[in-house]
Amino acid sequence: MASFEIPSEQWAQVVEKSGGPVSYKKIPVQQPGPDEVLINVKYSGVCHTDLHAMMGDWPIPTKLPLVGGHEGAGVVVAKGDLVTDLALGDHAGIKWLNGSCLACSFCMQADEPLCPRALLSGYTVDGTFQQYAVAKAAHVARIPKDCDLEAVAPVLCAGITVYKGLKESGARPGQTVAIVGAGGGLGCMAVQYARAMGLHVVGIDGGAEKGESCKALGAAAYVDYMSSADLVQEVKAATPEGLGPHAVLLLAVSERPFQQATEYVRSRGSVVCIGLPAGAFFKAPVFDTVIRMITIKGSYVGNRQDTQEALDFFQRGLVTVPFKTVGLSELQDVYQLMREGKIVGRYVVDTSR
Ligand code: NAD
Ligand code: ZN
Ligand code: ZN
Repeated sequence: MASFEIPSEQWAQVVEKSGGPVSYKKIPVQQPGPDEVLINVKYSGVCHTDLHAMMGDWPIPTKLPLVGGHEGAGVVVAKGDLVTDLALGDHAGIKWLNGSCLACSFCMQADEPLCPRALLSGYTVDGTFQQYAVAKAAHVARIPKDCDLEAVAPVLCAGITVYKGLKESGARPGQTVAIVGAGGGLGCMAVQYARAMGLHVVGIDGGAEKGESCKALGAAAYVDYMSSADLVQEVKAATPEGLGPHAVLLLAVSERPFQQATEYVRSRGSVVCIGLPAGAFFKAPVFDTVIRMITIKGSYVGNRQDTQEALDFFQRGLVTVPFKTVGLSELQDVYQLMREGKIVGRYVVDTSR
């Protein structure tokens, strides 16, 4: 078995107070508990959730000081005594669900994201914007050795979440799905998972660059919310018979598209909420929802099985994440671009610089 020299201190990006910014500094390396592994995080994707966490956007408080990050791909370098199914040297991923009780009725039925005692990476426990991070062994993603750690990192939240959301939508091969926020991190992955699942895609986002990315990744049509004179009609016109998409995946970080989706979704279609804009409400006309039999639901990350399935799509080459890599030290700059909506795809941070 491989052995690793583990330093007592490491580089990390730390949120000291809600609202940020992050500060790049040295902090101690944690030791794994009996049912935990210590992962040398090589690369971590930067999800919009990390920005929400730093800004205190949501009703649940974060731990403070906080190390964010929950798309961390790396190598198992230490483990607790109870961990028997992971070896030192294995490649593994830390995702949003850092751990759960495994004993409640949600955990028993593979709904572990709903566990009342769930631990959340980069929110209630320290996450992957550090060189060494701890997670419950039962929950870390098993990453096959032939997967590139840099390219696979964004699958660990964005990939899992949109793959699960597409399953929750009930859309079947041959049907059409609208992806709202299709040029962002989750969106770029959603377009590809949808295509790989045999769905037609209408991408919705703002600006020409995001449109080009949608088309390049296989969307049949792109609707630009910034320039469209009538978004609802344009989305419907891009679907068979002009009746609207069978499903809508809402990944955008603003409230407006949540209010529009039930207007263009096809009758008997489903609207799946995934994006989490601060303080937003979902509003839909009762009359239309009833007489057009529309399903409205939420979808929240994925379970361990969804994780391995989402990784399998990556390993088979069906999804590739458009990403740019910068040093962990540049995280605050990434947040700035993210806030301005300027990121196409994902930023990945390299923890070695
Ligand atoms: P991102 O910033 O990379 O992408 C968001 C995209 O939405 C951008 O491309 C932006 O241009 C687009 N957008 C903004 N307003 C729009 C509008 N009116 N119409 C269409 N598109 C619009 O963010 P991300 O990392 O992909 O995350 C998206 C959201 O999903 C965040 O709120 C994040 O917290 C949430 N999230 C939820 C889960 C879950 O389990 N439900 C998991 C991960 C992330
Ligand atoms: Zn995320
Ligand atoms: Zn539980």
